[in-house]
Amino acid sequence: MNQIRVESFELDHTKVKAPYVRKCAKYTGIKGDIIQKYDLRFTQPNKESMPTDAVHTLEHLLAVNMREELDEIIDISPMGCRTGFYMTTLGEKDNSVIKKALISSLEKILETEEVPAANEMQCGNYQDHSLEKAKIYASKVLKGLRDMV
Ligand SMILES: [Zn+2]
Repeated sequence: MNQIRVESFELDHTKVKAPYVRKCAKYTGIKGDIIQKYDLRFTQPNKESMPTDAVHTLEHLLAVNMREELDEIIDISPMGCRTGFYMTTLGEKDNSVIKKALISSLEKILETEEVPAANEMQCGNYQDHSLEKAKIYASKVLKGLRDMV
């Protein structure tokens, strides 16, 4: 029987130090196209997780802001453990490029006054948002990422 391997289950979550940007999986299609997945970790695993309203608001804001910074984003989705996001791109980019885009995106969040697409038509749980908490996490992550540079 084939053993299913899930990259994120193989990461030792006790050894990482959040926040960080990590390339976590790379796939090459039969025609040579590269799909790259990144781990955008916001809080320290098993120490702190974000409340769902904050994660949800960050998801909406990152969906817009990161696409303004980078081409070829396929998806940015919250991790179920609520400690960060997965981002998938067509083509591989350097971690430094991703980190720079994330820093700009988070800076924009601090200036934001409205959550995009937070309505019954465009969202599956539009009342579960908190811009205030999203800004608190954005500013914490910004501080951490800047200290790393
Ligand atoms: Zn939503």
